[in-house]
Amino acid sequence: MSTPFELDVQKVVAAIKSCLPPDRDFVGLHEPYFTGNEWNYVKECLDSGWVSSIGQYVEKFEEMLAEFTGVKRAVAVVNGTAALHVCLKLAGVEQGDEVLIPALTFIATANAVVYCGAIPHFVDSEEKTLGMDPCKLGHYLSDIAEIRGGSCFNRITGRRMKAVVPMHTFGHPVDLEPLLDVCQRFHLELVEDAAESLGSFYKGRHTGNWGRMSALSFNGNKVITTGGGGAILTNDESLGKLAKHLTTTAKVPHKWEFYHDQIGYNYRLPNLNAALGCAQLEQLPAFLEKKRALALRYREVFQNISGVRWFEEPGFARSNYWLNALLLDKDHVHERDVLLEISNVQGIMTRPAWTLMHKLPMFKDCPAMDLASAESLETRLINIPSSVFLGGTYGQT
Ligand SMILES: *Cc1c(COP(=O)(O)O)cnc(C)c1O
Repeated sequence: MSTPFELDVQKVVAAIKSCLPPDRDFVGLHEPYFTGNEWNYVKECLDSGWVSSIGQYVEKFEEMLAEFTGVKRAVAVVNGTAALHVCLKLAGVEQGDEVLIPALTFIATANAVVYCGAIPHFVDSEEKTLGMDPCKLGHYLSDIAEIRGGSCFNRITGRRMKAVVPMHTFGHPVDLEPLLDVCQRFHLELVEDAAESLGSFYKGRHTGNWGRMSALSFNGNKVITTGGGGAILTNDESLGKLAKHLTTTAKVPHKWEFYHDQIGYNYRLPNLNAALGCAQLEQLPAFLEKKRALALRYREVFQNISGVRWFEEPGFARSNYWLNALLLDKDHVHERDVLLEISNVQGIMTRPAWTLMHKLPMFKDCPAMDLASAESLETRLINIPSSVFLGGTYGQT
């Protein structure tokens, strides 16, 4: 029963359901969608035998990605975490540095920092974007940072702070311009974790095309998938070249000699996965339209439900709506788990936000600013089904 003080959980679940196909027992959060040339291109790999580290699809996929995002160079790699790792290395992150990342993110952002021997330093998020709060970061750095010899140091820990890694949460772009401003003021590199935001634009320019380097992911649950995969984006040709070199074991090209000029990584995306990626990328504009159609439907049905709101893209952004999100009002936080329970029991997959990074055992002693906003968002966020195929015509009134 609903009282003015209780969220009508059944009503919320019914609202989600009204946007979903009626004939399904289970609807996942983000299911892959293969309706184009996937079979043809993958079969071509199998027929030709070019399934692994050599083949035409890797290069083609990289070219298509660069064209779509507008960057000078895209380098395909095995997954988004590997992409982030190499981005940070090439942005100059070294052993003992600190890297500023949101507390509200997927574990990969923090892990990639640690793979470089660096220490994550957690930043608060803002309600408007669900991503890093540029204003709060600016004020915080004014308090704790000092510039020495062109580098930024944390006066409290004594460590160098090298980079800022904003993440475009659920595909919604963070407020990049003020963040770039903060980075410039404090001599920090901007590396975008754009793993969730392929197809999302900030002020008309693709996310991942703003920082020095950025990372995409093509994991099975992302907007497009290569099975597993990722990419490094950059507008710096020499960094792009270096990214390719580092992710392909740092082998110096030669007809028969095996000569490697530094420690590299075997992070190359196999041709088989790239083939899948090419077929998926061909359909990306159509996928984005379907995702927007579903998002608008959610917007409509949640307009008249109180206690909870559907998260809408910030005014400066065109979001891919990778994962639609509901935000509970502050006085309905205690009903989150009931909502999760009831929807999942009914075969509608819903999920809470990630546990904030500073609450995980391996990061509990890392430096952090006040995280009030992230802490609040963590208790109030719920992701709801957002697959491309849901952008069909059913459910419309
Ligand atoms: C998916 C994702 C990644 C990369 O994940 P992989 O599974 O390694 O491709 C990185 N950061 C965020 C925020 C992500 O959502």
